Amino acid sequence: MKVLVVSGGVISGLGKGITTSSLGRLLKARGIAVTIVKIDPYLNVDAGTMNPYQHGEVFVLDDGTEADLDLGNYERFLGQSLSGSHNLTTGKIYRAVIEKERRGDYLGNTVQIIPHVTGEIKRTVREIAEAAGAEVVLVEVGGTVGDIESMPFLEALRELSYELGEGEMAFVHTTLVPVVGPVGEAKTKPTQHSVRELRAIGIRPNLIIARGPAPLTADLKAKISLFCDVPPEAVISIPDQPLIYEVPLVLEAQGVGALLARLLRLPDRPPDYAAWKEFLATYRGATSPIEVAMVGKYTELKDAYLSHIEAFHHVQGHLGVEIGLRWYDAEDLPKNPSLEARLRRADAILVPGGFGSRGVEGKLRAIGIARTGGIPYLGICYGFQIAAVEFARGVLGLPHATTTEVDPATEEPVVCLLEEQKLRAELGGTMRLGAQRVTLAAGSLVARLYGKTEIWERHRHRFEINPAYVDRFAAAGLTVSGRAVDGRVESLELAGHPFFLGVQYHPEFLSRPEAPHPLFLGLVRAAVARKEVASPAAPSPAIA
Ligand code: GLN
Repeated sequence: MKVLVVSGGVISGLGKGITTSSLGRLLKARGIAVTIVKIDPYLNVDAGTMNPYQHGEVFVLDDGTEADLDLGNYERFLGQSLSGSHNLTTGKIYRAVIEKERRGDYLGNTVQIIPHVTGEIKRTVREIAEAAGAEVVLVEVGGTVGDIESMPFLEALRELSYELGEGEMAFVHTTLVPVVGPVGEAKTKPTQHSVRELRAIGIRPNLIIARGPAPLTADLKAKISLFCDVPPEAVISIPDQPLIYEVPLVLEAQGVGALLARLLRLPDRPPDYAAWKEFLATYRGATSPIEVAMVGKYTELKDAYLSHIEAFHHVQGHLGVEIGLRWYDAEDLPKNPSLEARLRRADAILVPGGFGSRGVEGKLRAIGIARTGGIPYLGICYGFQIAAVEFARGVLGLPHATTTEVDPATEEPVVCLLEEQKLRAELGGTMRLGAQRVTLAAGSLVARLYGKTEIWERHRHRFEINPAYVDRFAAAGLTVSGRAVDGRVESLELAGHPFFLGVQYHPEFLSRPEAPHPLFLGLVRAAVARKEVASPAAPSPAIA
């Protein structure tokens, strides 16, 4: 087992997740089997109970783990699905240690951070490496070096490097080189301090990755090399990129792939980036712009919808259509007629997942605009449930229709609590979660998009379409086109509309740069087709 640790210094939010994912991609491009583990030094057991404004979106894995959004980056960059064990939190580690203590596993010993918590961390990292059959495990340590929270993890990794010996483990430290002052001078002092901090706990970085707005000059690299005790070729610069998928090539251009191979004593085969480069070239050359309206309630923080944004990047890199996302705060929409007028001109509308009553009125309006205006619509999870409510109100003539999430006592519960949820009291990890099999109706829009009738998609919800309304929906044109094994409604689509589709699951979690998700592809294709009918002068390559 070889281990590559990625730590961060100076500040958080440097794109350590993208850096780690890209380092993984570098190794994978050389035919090396890799996997990635994220350490989140918070006491929550998982990310499921956190508001998206705290750490961005909650990313759901096949096994139902509600994970940090970096797991999504790893899956997208590696093109691999990961399990929940790949997101290690302080909460999980402490829970395991305390359970062992209660069982009496420590045989009368005093249970301490060192060696018991650190021991549990090392054991878990080894276990993941074995289970994944990976030659190299990348371990990203969340937070910033110097934080009290991350100390036990860094200590455990230091011990592990001693146990594994020479050439088996390497440390990458990601730092910020800010550009300050009236002449825009790049400053290395914060990097020097954070490397000193790391060395104080016994870790000597092998590679320093400097983040900043512009590329580091050779002089600055030499300076960091001198002060931080790494060779100049191991000081790597990642300037801000227009698209995160450029980062592996930025690293490759500075010789990082070969350097890692040397540090970890791995064979340095020539890397293969053929498909990756083709994706980037198509993305950069995109034309025929379309505007997709995103109507949600966490629009202030784009990380709350990270997987959606990435899914559209994947489509752009595949179809060569320039996709502009325009964000609408669902709460503002009913208050502002000019926003509504603007929304009517969107080429496609997407209402993503969400919770609670705030913003529901605005989402209903957006869906009404899509339904009556023939604008391609994709409703995901809450955006699917609310589409059913909008249809019940607008077409079935049930003005009081709603979800019991908004009004538990409603007389028209078009969306209601899942039966098994009625008995659950705890909020953590208790939704209907993870990959579930869905059977699609042959010939339906959704089956045509996938090109098959059996799919697996990831879920995260407590409520469902009330089966009591399904016949009335169908009679009025909104038909069930996907069902779970137990008969639950998984998708609805509207007859006579060019593209009006709602799905109970989250397709955004499965989209990858090399395999864009069929529903996102379908939405964009429909938007392009509609636009071409409106102005036939501009044919697009996407539809050919
Ligand atoms: N709030 C809805 C539910 O729990 C939708 C969840 C979601 O959009 N992820 O069913």
